Amino acid sequence: MRYISTRGQAPALDFEAAMLTGLARDGGLYVPEQVPHMAPAEIAALAGLSYEEVAFRVMRPFIGDCFTDSAFREIIARAYASFPHPARCPLVQIGPNDWIMELHHGPTLAFKDVAMQLIGQMFQAVLGRRGERVTIVGATSGDTGSAAIEAFRGLDTVDVVILYPHGRVSEVQRRQMTTPVEGNVHALAVEGTFDDCQALVKAMFNDFAFRDEVGLAAVNSINWARVLAQAVYYFTAAVSLGAPGRRVSFSVPTGNFGDIFAGHIARRMGLPVDTLVIATNENDILHRTLESGVYESRGVVATIAPSMDIQVSSNFERLLFELYGEDGASVTAAMDELKATGRFALPQGAVAQLREGFASARSDKDTTMALIARMHRDTGLVLDPHTAIGVVAADRARGEAEVPMVTLGTAHAAKFPDAVEAACGVRPALPARMADLYERPERVSVVPNDLERIEAVVRERRQ
Ligand SMILES: *Cc1c(COP(=O)(O)O)cnc(C)c1O
Repeated sequence: MRYISTRGQAPALDFEAAMLTGLARDGGLYVPEQVPHMAPAEIAALAGLSYEEVAFRVMRPFIGDCFTDSAFREIIARAYASFPHPARCPLVQIGPNDWIMELHHGPTLAFKDVAMQLIGQMFQAVLGRRGERVTIVGATSGDTGSAAIEAFRGLDTVDVVILYPHGRVSEVQRRQMTTPVEGNVHALAVEGTFDDCQALVKAMFNDFAFRDEVGLAAVNSINWARVLAQAVYYFTAAVSLGAPGRRVSFSVPTGNFGDIFAGHIARRMGLPVDTLVIATNENDILHRTLESGVYESRGVVATIAPSMDIQVSSNFERLLFELYGEDGASVTAAMDELKATGRFALPQGAVAQLREGFASARSDKDTTMALIARMHRDTGLVLDPHTAIGVVAADRARGEAEVPMVTLGTAHAAKFPDAVEAACGVRPALPARMADLYERPERVSVVPNDLERIEAVVRERRQ
């Protein structure tokens, strides 16, 4: 299995190299040269299996000879041992043919754990075999950083350095980053904004001497291995609801387009996914693109669903590559135009193809809050704002009534307690396993918004 860049200029890589590299050298994203197909009988045979076994069978064809079957099974087992719910990603019914898949049973209470926990174990196995050690750096506005820390804490091949904007993340998010005791975890509170943190990470990567000295690596949302890990739960959900004999639709709270693109990959593998609904908040670039055929960035507004507050959706480039007939030059031209003018128009054929597989809907703050209140009143469920946006979009975009609709529940309500309490009057409690989060001692390292100082801290702290 080879991976090629969406811009057509970088060398093709195997799974291991694509995972370790992340972004391609031509600025593109890696995609599989061919998407493996699962026959209906193979999909039917997934019914009743454990989450781990489904994960093994779905991902196996993508990884080539990176791991032996038994090593890969062990990696998957270790990754999901951190999800106490035996189903890992359980379905909850909210109405006739209407479901939520809870993806928040991992250590940081958001769906990013599903991919990150697996990536942590895959990095450890690959780096251990190579006798290498890397420093993973990332900037976070909250969820990604804590998921990365939980994935890499205590692993002996990796230091993990996360920059977050001092005073600008929620208390739960901050505590998830500052309370792990392992020496290879370094959460740095930068005196600046999230954009400053991102610029610092970029500058570290562009400082080639530093980059080589500390073995810099990244696990951001464009990493192919993250997309792959997320394709698995589309299979477990659809098979539970009758696939391959029955089509299933999904509504996906969307930011960088990684999670929903994983659903598209599942569909290309042969899973009968009917519609994929792009659910957005006020930052609705993708919803506007589906309506108008023009992809246009308009700046970010802060919302009650902060993990979806994005200006552009980086993983959308992977779908563009397909819509443009896998022509890297056309993708490059579109991305250059976006950089220069803030927008580009999709060709008519591409828009039609996009609308065939995807629908979209936008939910503003009032609508999202009303949904949280109604859901609590009708079902007793307390939803987080991201998941609630998914349910609003599912209701708006639902096609045929006989096709089951699954909304991806991307976070636990306790991660966003203020918005949830304002909406339905209930302050969601943390699950018992982390009820002491507010009592655990914090290690807070405040650092100035200064590249040299931060690089010095990284050098000094690295194990
Ligand atoms: C990251 C995130 C999203 C958006 O996922 P993408 O893969 O970026 O589209 C949605 N909800 C929550 C809670 C998240 O953390």
